[in-house]
Amino acid sequence: MHWPPIKKIPEALTPQPHLVDYDQTCANFSWEDVLRELDGSEGSAGLNIAHLAVDRHADGPLSAHLALRWLGGDGTTIDFSYRDLQEESNRFANLLDQLGVGKGDTVFCFTDRIPALYFAALGAWKNLSVFCPLFSAFGPEAVYQRMQRGDAKVLVTTSRLYQQKIAALRKRLPKLAHVLLADVAEDLQEGVWSLPGQMAAVSSSFTLPPTDPEDIALLHFTSGTTGMPKGALHAHKAVLTHYITGRYVLDFHGDDIFWCTADPGWVTGISYGIIAPLVCGVTNIIDAEEFDAERWYNILESEKVTIWYTSPTAVRRLMCLDIKPLEIFDLHHLRAIHSVGEPLNPEAVLWGQNVLGLPIHDNWWQTETGGIMIANYLALEIRPGSMGRPLPGIEAAVVRRVDDSAEIIEDVEVQGELGLRPGWPSMFRGYLHEEDRYTKCFAGDYYLTGDLVRRDADGYFWFVGRADDIIKTAGHLVSPFEVESLLMTHPAVAEAGVIGKPNAMLGELVKAFVAVKPDITADDQLRLELIGFTRRLLGPAIAPREIEFKAHLPKNKAGKIMRRLLKAREMGLPLGDISTLELEGNNKK
Ligand code: AMP
Repeated sequence: MHWPPIKKIPEALTPQPHLVDYDQTCANFSWEDVLRELDGSEGSAGLNIAHLAVDRHADGPLSAHLALRWLGGDGTTIDFSYRDLQEESNRFANLLDQLGVGKGDTVFCFTDRIPALYFAALGAWKNLSVFCPLFSAFGPEAVYQRMQRGDAKVLVTTSRLYQQKIAALRKRLPKLAHVLLADVAEDLQEGVWSLPGQMAAVSSSFTLPPTDPEDIALLHFTSGTTGMPKGALHAHKAVLTHYITGRYVLDFHGDDIFWCTADPGWVTGISYGIIAPLVCGVTNIIDAEEFDAERWYNILESEKVTIWYTSPTAVRRLMCLDIKPLEIFDLHHLRAIHSVGEPLNPEAVLWGQNVLGLPIHDNWWQTETGGIMIANYLALEIRPGSMGRPLPGIEAAVVRRVDDSAEIIEDVEVQGELGLRPGWPSMFRGYLHEEDRYTKCFAGDYYLTGDLVRRDADGYFWFVGRADDIIKTAGHLVSPFEVESLLMTHPAVAEAGVIGKPNAMLGELVKAFVAVKPDITADDQLRLELIGFTRRLLGPAIAPREIEFKAHLPKNKAGKIMRRLLKAREMGLPLGDISTLELEGNNKK
């Protein structure tokens, strides 16, 4: 079906978007100009993210401006001005110094969306340590894999999460020297401290050390098809991308009230749930609660949200409810809606237009790119179903990998892999301890994203699918390998193969195929047991929702389970090349 474009009249938009003439902006764009704009003062803290996000505002006219409003589940609201954020992050930076945690050390944070998370991130950047967020719904095994790989030295968490998921791991994490509990008033024991208690005992003044733009600021774990989660490293310089996408894509203006619904356990919740809005000096709303349609519409209304950044899964959840929000809620403050993380179906773009009075602007990026790379801009025509056009300063192409080089596919409407020419500031600087894996992401002049796309004659990019087996469920990347590895530790499991099964609401759901050991009965009780086992140890965001028992799983001649084949069979698609398929039980297929 062909979806007509949504035409825009830039002059009719108030305020005038920062990006109106796309071609002109691209032609005149240089990252050096952005650098000059942000890093004016020689000998200062330079490109430190926390300096740009907080201190320069706190020391200037935005000092008393509302930086962050936290909405608790019980109706509590806590406000933090830029000055408040400066003081809280200074305290956290001082605390890290006092604990002997410094440049390059990893500070993990495993909490729900609570204020301490935001102080910890900003404070860690101030003291030049590396901040690593973990999604609070992860189970202990998922947490362990990441903290162990990330050489965790400090962990900020809460007493519930500590008792339920961390305490038993301590022996396996010998490098973890300090745990800071955000919700207790007294220290528990040596090495398990009360965060508020410790914060109260240190100064709220802090002198930022000079920051090299290449100093590492962030470690984000993301999923691969093979191997365990990989830790993508980002430098302080990434802030240039956050700033410019805050202006050109999200279109922040001084009085904006912004709500990004992503959890900081994932990259969007850090780049756009913390950094971009603060660097651009707007008000950032944080909701502690999970998705709830009525609550969300209430927040949009009562907080007078002007710019909303959410996900296709959330939009689809709203779409399937029989609510006409504009008849119930006053959403006239809202002037833009953006979405990221998975394909945004054209129906969703139009649903926004018809039901909320605003189309939804899709944009594309991934953990490795650190910030938005391709977007639908406020002043430009939207092509429903398209991810939009590359950010000024980003060279995107449809490419084909040929050995070590990338051949550009010049023809339009031809499918290939999305390639980005390296050099943008928020490009990841490596995978922690995995140089090889990093090198393999590049071919010729391009970083290869692993996404299949096509480009139309006007330069709009259209998402086709992943080039690999990685699963995207409810906007979260899941590594089939991580799920398979855990399943294999269960005494009943002989083999496991995990795929993403298309699902109208979640995009994909995690489905596992399991062959059991001899003498084990594959029945509903075992299925429930395995689902419970994976949910407990990996968490509900990763665990399979469906398990199907098979006598044998298809393998190639090297003995590797062919997920591609499991998926094709699941979807009733042609099986493709099966020349490498080895014996599958007794049937050679
Ligand atoms: P993550 O690294 O977890 O942010 O996931 C990045 C992946 O999500 C991308 O490589 C895409 O496969 C998918 N993705 C992100 N944004 C979009 C989008 N707008 N349309 C389609 N897929 C997307």
